[in-house]
Amino acid sequence: MAALGEDFLAFGRSARAYSALIDGKLIGVDQRERLERASPATGRPVSIYPRATDADVQGAIKAARRAADLRRWAAVPGAERSRLILRVAGLIDKHREELGLIECLEGGKPISAVDGEIQGSIDLWEYAATLARHMYGDTHDQLGEQTMGLVFREPIGVVGMITPWNFPLLIASQKLPFALAAGCCAVLKPSEFTSGTTLRLGELLLEAGLPDGVVNVIAGDGPTAGRPLCESAAVDMISFTGSTRVGKEIRTFGDSLKRISLELGGKSAHIVCADADLDAAAAAVVQGVTINAGQCCVAGSRLLVERSVAEAFCERVVDKMRALRVGDPTDTATQIGPLINDAQFQRVTSYVRRGIEEGATLLLGDDQPQADGYFVSPVVFDKVNPEMAIAQEEIFGPVLSVLRFDSADEAIAIANGTRYGLAAGVWTRSLDKAFHFARRLNAGTVEVNTYLAGAPELPLSGYGDSGLGHEKSRFALDEFTRVKTVQLKFGHA
Ligand code: NAD
Repeated sequence: MAALGEDFLAFGRSARAYSALIDGKLIGVDQRERLERASPATGRPVSIYPRATDADVQGAIKAARRAADLRRWAAVPGAERSRLILRVAGLIDKHREELGLIECLEGGKPISAVDGEIQGSIDLWEYAATLARHMYGDTHDQLGEQTMGLVFREPIGVVGMITPWNFPLLIASQKLPFALAAGCCAVLKPSEFTSGTTLRLGELLLEAGLPDGVVNVIAGDGPTAGRPLCESAAVDMISFTGSTRVGKEIRTFGDSLKRISLELGGKSAHIVCADADLDAAAAAVVQGVTINAGQCCVAGSRLLVERSVAEAFCERVVDKMRALRVGDPTDTATQIGPLINDAQFQRVTSYVRRGIEEGATLLLGDDQPQADGYFVSPVVFDKVNPEMAIAQEEIFGPVLSVLRFDSADEAIAIANGTRYGLAAGVWTRSLDKAFHFARRLNAGTVEVNTYLAGAPELPLSGYGDSGLGHEKSRFALDEFTRVKTVQLKFGHA
């Protein structure tokens, strides 16, 4: 074990208690039934959250509703909203080591990788702060000499935010600062497996001076804490990130016409042409499918490689994947930590068995660690055909399925041949080919000669079963606002 300080480690030795935030008040674990989270690496308890009661969920919704109806946040000038959002960015920065360690302990994410997620979150808050000063409507002054039409951009109101376990602080930061920039109020419910950083974020919002009730953060599972948010007529919008199964299900909850935005699963294709920089491509393919042990919505879990270079390219990828260190996520040398829980472990290992049964060739992965935690070493399947389950379904583990192609159009047909459409990567030195792919791939994001780059300025969205709506970028303001027409007639004086 290298480099981590004693204080830092002491923090990880006993389970840490968190508080929920409802209407400006912190609710600790001694006041509620406890929800415990154990480390996926060791099974030791690492976090205790106060499980939200029905009254807590309704209280959080009521507080946000009241704050929205009183325009407690919407009436604050954009410049001030911007300053507060920036203050939160500064607080996340100040607590970056602590927040990173929470993600490592609860999620099993390698300690060497967590700071990237925290920095990504800070970037999102900083960028969203600029949007708060750039939200404006429209003026129509040519409707007649004594007529004026104004189009206001109004915050949509109360947003229920439901987030998954894989990048908790980052995904909360893809939603919350943008909603705050737009003047919205929120109830935020993180995943029951990794609530720590989001609950800490609630405390940081309080410290930053956010008015009571504007943001409420509760802990609980999907059916008891997430579902009532979706069902409540007092919630104007649900912003959900998670599985396609639950995303589809929540659209059926309640009978109010609330806006729903969904960021869901994927089976993204990483396409490597023979003319590509194969070294750079191999490194990106490996990183693209092993980041967070493959538990990443935009994981490039299908490698589509041009047949003429397939053999040599697969060798490079396998060599790099074999060299990755799997193990204790608090060890700074670790590159792949455990999967999040037993259900995810069973899911990934059953897909590996299925790939073998379906006749794919196992190039890497028959030597799995026999450890107590939910560890899975990288797996590479070659000679996969597009109909196999391992080429169609989201596995959410470090499992790469290799398919070969002879022409760009064949690659596009394979890439577009799943129900998902979240992301795609293309590696080529030809600009013509790059545009040919970029135009035709059915994916919300196409990255050329890079992968997992992203930026707060760029939207995230999914085609097909990967989602509805978009997050980040200036387009996020469209998601969290609605327009109101105000028409004026003068000349009655
Ligand atoms: P999940 O769908 O199981 O849970 C997501 C959230 O929904 C959690 O907070 C959970 O408590 C809540 N939930 C579960 N059932 C609910 C219900 N009936 N009503 C309301 N809320 C409910 O997803 P997960 O396992 O936490 O995350 C993994 C999934 O998330 C993967 O499919 C991944 O691709 C997807 N994901 C997508 C993106 C994206 O941006 N597109 C990003 C990260 C993860």
